[in-house]
Amino acid sequence: MFIQSGEWVIILKAKLQVKDKIFKSLRFQIIVLLILVSSIPCLMVKATVLKRYEDKAIAWRTAEIQNQCTILANQLANSNYFNEPVSDVLDAEMTQLSNIYDGRVLIIDEDYRVVKDTFGIEDGKTILSPYVITCFAGKSTSNYNRDGRCLDITSPITVTSKDEVQVKGVILVSISTDVIAETVSELKNTADAIFGVMMLVIIVITSFIATQMVKPFGRLARKIEDATEGYTGTTVFENTYNETKNISEALNKMFSRMKTLDESRNEFVSNVSHELKTPLTSMKVLADSLLAQENVPVELYQEFMGDITEEIERENKIINDLLSLVKMDKTSADLNVKSENINDLVERILKRLRPIAALRNVEVIFESFRPVTAEVDEVKFSLAISNLVENAIKYNRENGSVNVSLNADHKYFYVKVADTGMGIPQESLEHIFERFYRVDKSHSREIGGTGLGLAIARGAVIMHRGAIKVHSEEGEGTTFTVRVPLNFIA
Ligand code: ADP
Repeated sequence: MFIQSGEWVIILKAKLQVKDKIFKSLRFQIIVLLILVSSIPCLMVKATVLKRYEDKAIAWRTAEIQNQCTILANQLANSNYFNEPVSDVLDAEMTQLSNIYDGRVLIIDEDYRVVKDTFGIEDGKTILSPYVITCFAGKSTSNYNRDGRCLDITSPITVTSKDEVQVKGVILVSISTDVIAETVSELKNTADAIFGVMMLVIIVITSFIATQMVKPFGRLARKIEDATEGYTGTTVFENTYNETKNISEALNKMFSRMKTLDESRNEFVSNVSHELKTPLTSMKVLADSLLAQENVPVELYQEFMGDITEEIERENKIINDLLSLVKMDKTSADLNVKSENINDLVERILKRLRPIAALRNVEVIFESFRPVTAEVDEVKFSLAISNLVENAIKYNRENGSVNVSLNADHKYFYVKVADTGMGIPQESLEHIFERFYRVDKSHSREIGGTGLGLAIARGAVIMHRGAIKVHSEEGEGTTFTVRVPLNFIA
């Protein structure tokens, strides 16, 4: 059966996914790290100990043989061996030396000629090895050949005549280091076996440790999944590590924000339904009462139809305010920012609202401290200021006044809307910017309020990266201050 190219791609992708899953897992990385951290020192200790043992063993063996050579050299020098190279005693000693150390002893005379070889192979031959030459200069040498498993030691045979030391010959001892090599190899095998067992134990322990270490993260992930599936009110307490504690705290903040958002969304939906239903209910009551009566006089019809029109207007206003509010909820990317003359803009708003103020004999005064040009979205910013001025008129007393002032510094401009109205109770001040919040529901309704004006104003100001503040004294009046940057900060 042939595998199609598409299937290869799928298999390859699956393999890469499995690879990613393993190599990118924290558990795997902890296991690898712990294994490396524990095994590298073990390997280093093993290599160092073996090397030290080998060096020591060679040094001991060298010293031992050097000793034997010195004794033999003295005997050879005293027995005039080079002139009469026949001595059973010395030959026996040399044979013994070579037997003990599993080696070979060569005696070399001044002409680099071998006068005695315990193996009997090189007798009479000339040896010009650098070690022998160095030894003729009066220095003992030793050379360890690890690969060849042999140790060559030279020792000079000296005679002293008339205070002069003469090197008469050289003893060259060549021994096998098989025993040392085998001991090293045995030690290495034992160390490897111990290391293998240790690795197994380390892998088991590190796997267990790594599994325990990553467990808190798994629990956090499950909590987040729970919250994603909609278990609002979820709280996380994962205090195993400082890091998981910090993540838990951040998550709890996020969950509580999600919960608040969820609640405020539900509340908003139920408020919207309620607000939209109120004018409809009034209209239905008015229409039903007209239908229930026979021969209704025209005046009553006109009066009721007038009320119904008012309710329709109210419904319309709520819907318009809701649409404005939705627009203010969007990001500042939706702003159509242009450089505007703020003095003119405020003047235009006040011109539009003065007739409404006149109905209640409220005077609207504009005080500008300097000409201000700033980058704003004309429509949205105007909506904010009109809502504040409208409120200042609506919640004012008969013959009261509204004072609007405009000022600026090098960074911001300020619009102040101060009225001489009824004021806002202290406990309500923190709620007035909430959607549908009204201090006095029936009064606000009576004067055509929807409870959305300040929420819209605040949304518009925040979109301009500005701030809005309120100060109010009950019975004396209210002042709203809006601060907006002169240059729009994207
Ligand atoms: P509304 O459409 O009811 O005026 P707002 O969001 O504009 O809604 O205002 C919320 C509430 O804050 C109002 O119902 C009113 O009680 C209070 N309020 C707002 N502006 C003023 C003001 N200038 N003077 C007194 N009360 C005010």
